[in-house]
Amino acid sequence: MARTAPAIGIDLGTTFSCLGVFKNGKVEIIANDMGNRTTPSYVSFNDSERMVGEAAKNQAAMNPTNTVFDTHRLIGRKFSEGTVQRDIKLWPFKVLNNNGKPQIEVEYKAETKKFYAEEISSMVLMKMKETAEAYLGAPVKDAVITVPTFFNNAQRAAIKDAGAIAGLNFLRIINATTAAALAYGLYKKTDSESNVLIFDLGGGNSNVSILTAQHGVWEVKTTAGDTHLGGEDFDNRLVEHLYLEFKKKFKHDPSQNKKSLMRLRIAAENAKRTLSSSAQATIEIDSLYQGIDFYSTITRSRFEDLCNNLFRRTLEPVTRALRDAQLSKSDIHEVVLVGGSTRIPKIRKLLEEFFNGKQLNCSINPDEAVAYGAAVQAAVLTSVKEEAINGILLIDVVPLSLGIETAGGTMAKIVKRNTKVPTLPIPTLNITTSTHNQPEVTVQVFEGEGETIKDNNLLGSFTLQGIRPAPRGVPQIEVSFYVDSNYMLTVTADSNWCTGVKVTNVQNRLSQQDIDRMVADAEKFKAEDDAMGGLNGASREQSGSTLENVD
Ligand code: AMP
Repeated sequence: MARTAPAIGIDLGTTFSCLGVFKNGKVEIIANDMGNRTTPSYVSFNDSERMVGEAAKNQAAMNPTNTVFDTHRLIGRKFSEGTVQRDIKLWPFKVLNNNGKPQIEVEYKAETKKFYAEEISSMVLMKMKETAEAYLGAPVKDAVITVPTFFNNAQRAAIKDAGAIAGLNFLRIINATTAAALAYGLYKKTDSESNVLIFDLGGGNSNVSILTAQHGVWEVKTTAGDTHLGGEDFDNRLVEHLYLEFKKKFKHDPSQNKKSLMRLRIAAENAKRTLSSSAQATIEIDSLYQGIDFYSTITRSRFEDLCNNLFRRTLEPVTRALRDAQLSKSDIHEVVLVGGSTRIPKIRKLLEEFFNGKQLNCSINPDEAVAYGAAVQAAVLTSVKEEAINGILLIDVVPLSLGIETAGGTMAKIVKRNTKVPTLPIPTLNITTSTHNQPEVTVQVFEGEGETIKDNNLLGSFTLQGIRPAPRGVPQIEVSFYVDSNYMLTVTADSNWCTGVKVTNVQNRLSQQDIDRMVADAEKFKAEDDAMGGLNGASREQSGSTLENVD
C-alpha cells in the first residue's frame, strides 16, 4: 500500500457507524468485512481477542460485562453527571470514576483493563479506517468525521482525541445534520432558495438543523437537539416493560442478571424494529432467567404508549430550531428524515401532524446519509475537482452559547448560539477587578443557554495573575473567544495590566501523555489482532455503492 487513499467520511454514531468515500465522481458507501454498510459501534474483549462491530455485538449476550457500546453517551462527560449515572444502571459493563472522568473496566486476555470512552471510540474509528484501507487498497490518513449536532465543546474535544489515538488526521469535525443536508443537496439540486429542515433521530440522540440552500451553498440557520434521546431510550422502555412482565408472571427479577438483561435488550431492539413494519412483534427467549423460557408479544400501540412522552419530546428541538430561525412551519420547503429511528411510524406521524400534514422527505437512506455527506465534505476539503461537488460551500453555526461568569453567577454570552463559524471578527468582552488592588482575576468559561452559570456546563477556567495595584474597576482585560470551523473554542485574554495567565483544564480532557500512551496501546492491540488474522479475523470481500433509500 504505497500511495495514499482519498480522504474518507465517517459517521461515528452512538449505535452504528458508517463510512463513505468520494470516488469516480460519486460517493460510495463502503461495506465492512461482513458485507454490511453500517457497523455497530460495539467493542468486546475476551480471553483471546478483541472484536469490533458485528462480531462484538453478536456475542454481547454471552459476554455482557466485556462488551462495550453507547460510548457516545459517556464521551466528554463527567462521571457525576446525572445522565451518566442513569445510564450506568442500565449498562452491563462496569464504569468507574477516575478523578471525575468515567472509565470502563473489562477483562481482556485474563487481565483487568481500563479504557476511557475515547479509547473505545478510537477502536471503532480504527475499524472504519481499516475497512476503508482494505477497500481502497491504500493507507488512509485524512477523514471528515461527524458528531451529533448538539455535542458540546468537551464532547467534540474528546472525539478529536479519539481520532488522534486512531491515527487519523481529522480534516474537519462536522455536525451530523449538516452532513445529511449535503447528502440531500447532492441528491436533489436546488436553484431557488429553499429552507430545509433535517430531522435526525438515531440511536442516542436527536438533532435538528434548519438550512437554507441555493446553488450549492448550504448555510445552517439554526440547530437544536437533545444529546440523550434516541432509539436506545425506546429500547430501554421496552426492556423495562418486558422485565416487569417477567417479574409479574414468574416472581423472579431478570434484571438482576447482566446476561439476562442483555438478552432482553437485544430482543427488545429487534421487536422495536419489527414494530416499524408490523402491528405486532413476538419475543421468544429460551431460558432467560433461572431456566425459565420467556415468550411474549407486544403490539405497536402498546409500544407507542410506552414511549409516548419520549416520542413527543423529539418535537421540542424542531420547535426551538424554528423559533431561533424566526421561521414558521409553512416556511419550511422540505423536512428530510435521517437516522434509523425515523423509521418508527408514530414518529413520522407526529412530525407530519406538526407540519400540518406536509409530506416528509424520506428519499435518502437514513442510515447512510450522514456518512455520505461527510464523504462529500472530505472531497471538498481536499480540493477534489469533480462536477458533482463543484461550488459546494458549507456555512455552519455554533450549537451552544459560550461565555463567562460575571457578577452574581450570571453568564455573559460572548458567542451566542447559532453564530456562524469560524467566528470572525472575533467577539470580545472587557472585564475588570471587583475590589481595590485585586492581584488576580479568575475567568470561568461556560457553555449553555441558562441565564445563570449553575445551569450551564463549565468548560475551563484561567487566572490572570500579577495585576498591578489599582482601584477596582480600573484594570481593563479584554477576553476574546474564537470558535474555529471544527466548532472548537479558543479563549485568549489580553491586557497590559497583568503579567501572566494560568489555565486550568476542567474539561477532563486527556493529556498529551495519555494520548501518546493510548496510541502506543492501540499499536500493540493492532499487532496482537494482526497475529490473530486481523481484527475479527482477516479482511473480507467488500463492496461500495450509492445513496438511494433502500428502506
Ligand atoms: P443510527 O444512529 O441512525 O444508525 O440509528 C440507530 C437507531 O435506529 C437504533 O436505535 C436502531 O434500533 C434504530 N432503528 C434502526 N432501524 C429501525 C427500525 N426499522 N425501526 C425502529 N428503529 C430502528
